[in-house]
Amino acid sequence: MISIVIPAYNEEKVLPELIQRLSSAAKDWGDSYEIVFVDDGSKDRTWDIIREQHKRHPYVRGIRFSRNFGHQSAVTAGLAHAQGDAVFVMDADLQDPPEILAKFIEKWREGYEVVYAVRMKRKESIFKKASYFLFYRMLQRLAEIDIPLDSGDFCLMDRKVLDELNRLPEKHRFVRGLRAWVGFKQYGLAYERHARQGGEPKYTLKKLIGLALNGLLSFSSFPLRLASLLGLIIAGTSFLGLIFFFLYRIFDWKLFGYSIRATPGTATIFLTVLFLGGIQLITIGIIGEYIGRIFEEVKARPTYVARDVIGFCASSDPRPASSVSEESV
Ligand code: UDP
Ligand code: MG
Repeated sequence: MISIVIPAYNEEKVLPELIQRLSSAAKDWGDSYEIVFVDDGSKDRTWDIIREQHKRHPYVRGIRFSRNFGHQSAVTAGLAHAQGDAVFVMDADLQDPPEILAKFIEKWREGYEVVYAVRMKRKESIFKKASYFLFYRMLQRLAEIDIPLDSGDFCLMDRKVLDELNRLPEKHRFVRGLRAWVGFKQYGLAYERHARQGGEPKYTLKKLIGLALNGLLSFSSFPLRLASLLGLIIAGTSFLGLIFFFLYRIFDWKLFGYSIRATPGTATIFLTVLFLGGIQLITIGIIGEYIGRIFEEVKARPTYVARDVIGFCASSDPRPASSVSEESV
């Protein structure tokens, strides 16, 4: 079975067309399927539509949040409830056209365990396009793992991958990052992102900034290291300053018409402030390193994900099969 997880927040305008286009696209898949809607606390008729559709088509299922928890939480809930052997995540607004899902399934049948969509073109404002462009490039440079460029949450995942993803306990979820983190055989499928089919974008600027920050902070410790880096630069500058003031004094240079001999004490104050500032930043950076490690532990991602295990009884039992079978005799 194939599951399609769709978070929806105030999407009454697009849902009927979405369900109709999905259902007709699904006829070609040759698989049974379910559509898992997650109503993220909508204030319009979104939930009514999901309920009506469920009565008509039992393969339409729904989860309704008690309030707006945000897109990533909605995706997480949908993934936890999906029962398929392969699971899609897509937007409700038809920016991800249902007709191309067949291509994902084809790749999945070829043996890829994650097929993620890579946007070649997007029909959005210049500001949004530029921000996305910069964000993904920055994320790729800073993140400790390789997060593919220009790929959002639109993807298909195999059950194996999904089980690993669902097991991760962290609360601030940046699903596209976690999907990359989990690994397995991944394939990037290029597609053209359409314009929203109806209604207003539900991702406000504030929510987008929140998402971007979450992605950077959950997958990079660079911001924490920034303090040590700045501290080193500033403390280093104070040493250069020391040499400079020394020469300034000896050769009695004039800077902006001033001689250092006319302003006694300048060098002392200047260098002390720089040096102490640098030391403070370096120590904050050291604290940052520890906080980074605490953060890693709190996220509680496993240290590894094993793809296959051979010669052991069960994947949870680390003893070799032979020793286990001897014991049980
Ligand atoms: N969405 C959601 N909760 C939110 C914001 C958005 O479930 O708080 C859903 C929305 O209904 C849509 C998807 O997330 O299905 C993407 O939202 P949107 O189209 O506004 O984002 P964009 O395409 O502009 O990135
Ligand atoms: Mg959209």
